[in-house]
Amino acid sequence: MSDTPIRVRFAPSPTGHLHLGNVRTALFNWLFARRNGGTFILRLEDTDAVRSTQESVESVLEDLRWLGLTWDEGPEAGGAFGPYRQTERYDLYAAHAAKLLDEGKAYRCYCTQEELDAGREAAKAAGRTYIYPGTCRRLSEDARHAQEAQGRRPSIRLKMAPHTVSFTDLVRGHVSIHTQTFGDWILTRPDGSPTYNFAVVVDDALMGVTHVVRGEDHLTNTPKQVALYEAFGYRVPSFAHLSMILGPDGGKLSKRHGDVSVDALRARGFLPEAVINGLALMGWADPGGQEVLSVRELLERFDLSRVTKAAAVFDEAKLKYLNREHMKALSASALAGALAPYLRAAGRLPDQMSHDIEAWMESLALLIVERIETLADGVSASDPVFEFHPEGMTEAHWESLREPEARAVVAAFAQRAETTDLAQPGAFKAAAAAIKEALGAKGKALFHPIRLALTAADTGPDLDRLVPLLERGSKLGLPVPVLGPAQRVNRVLAMLD
Ligand code: GLU
Repeated sequence: MSDTPIRVRFAPSPTGHLHLGNVRTALFNWLFARRNGGTFILRLEDTDAVRSTQESVESVLEDLRWLGLTWDEGPEAGGAFGPYRQTERYDLYAAHAAKLLDEGKAYRCYCTQEELDAGREAAKAAGRTYIYPGTCRRLSEDARHAQEAQGRRPSIRLKMAPHTVSFTDLVRGHVSIHTQTFGDWILTRPDGSPTYNFAVVVDDALMGVTHVVRGEDHLTNTPKQVALYEAFGYRVPSFAHLSMILGPDGGKLSKRHGDVSVDALRARGFLPEAVINGLALMGWADPGGQEVLSVRELLERFDLSRVTKAAAVFDEAKLKYLNREHMKALSASALAGALAPYLRAAGRLPDQMSHDIEAWMESLALLIVERIETLADGVSASDPVFEFHPEGMTEAHWESLREPEARAVVAAFAQRAETTDLAQPGAFKAAAAAIKEALGAKGKALFHPIRLALTAADTGPDLDRLVPLLERGSKLGLPVPVLGPAQRVNRVLAMLD
């Protein structure tokens, strides 16, 4: 690698939400830049006036920010090579097209859409790939004026000399292709708008991009782009084309496989660090085979030379596994902070959190983290705390509670619950030990009736941890009141009578 400082870019077209495919491209660019002390540029390729929206621009910026993929130059950040939106760069494209015209490297083409379509149809009928035959290359000045006089506006085409264009792709190796396979291609359309291949080269060259890291779908565009760099005499950057991401059925990852936008993953309660980790493993692997990787570890280890040619497969189960691991790695307060919006949306937490509620929420978060795959699962996992429906218990449950021994255990527990502070660590254990001592009940005969009376279910979180949470929660005045242990058990006792 030369000593030129690395400059890379992510160039999304703001026509919808970022999905996993394009955000993986953003991530690999970002990791490569950060790892090598380079610059990460964000450029909006918004030339498609019909499909580009400001709403999409905002969601792209928000998704990148949420993932922590901060950009050094681009919208909002500014930079010395702006503007960073293609629609604000039309003067630059026009000047570049004019330069190529002046140098005789490009020409005006007046062929109409109908003429071009007819040529395309004919090629198709003959089983050939359509290549523009260069009709307007040889147009005399007079003929050109005649076209203009009729009010026809030209496209500008690059004059391709017949030769082989070669470049080395960091992922795919050496690629070479003859210019005859694509012919004289269009730089600007009759309305003056640039084509993707033209704008991208002007921008990458002017922005000093050293490495173009993007999806494999652009591999076939690259020879055209290289030919254009050559025409301008600009330095050709290095290229790295990342393999497609496939769905589990082997087809290109798409909506068919569920909503794989960053936005949807965030709403479903995936942590940004888990999404980053999952994306990093789609096309790259840690040299030591480690799967759960923090952003810091990725920054220490990511290397474009380890990016694989093979297609990456999106595996939702793997993403959930990574999410679990990253949730467990969070501090109690960070985890509580991540879960809180979901519980708040379910009406279970107030907008304003007192210090006591925050502390309680941390204990709740630690209790449920073992039982959830996404933050959104935190709502159902906290049901044992917020919900209590003894009326929904089965007849078999009621039968078992009516057994004299079970009933005595529940009554004894109710009495303890009223007279001791079960919020204290170890208080539940002490209560259970005292009941065991007094009644001789032990094991299942002791804990099953207590669990049923406290939760109206025979399985659930560890009672040693749940009971103090119920006790503390009952005193917090939460929007959905948490019933304390005594209230719960007394209710069941009353229903037993
Ligand atoms: N706007 C193009 C895309 O989203 C960018 C391609 C490129 O990186 O050159 O596919």
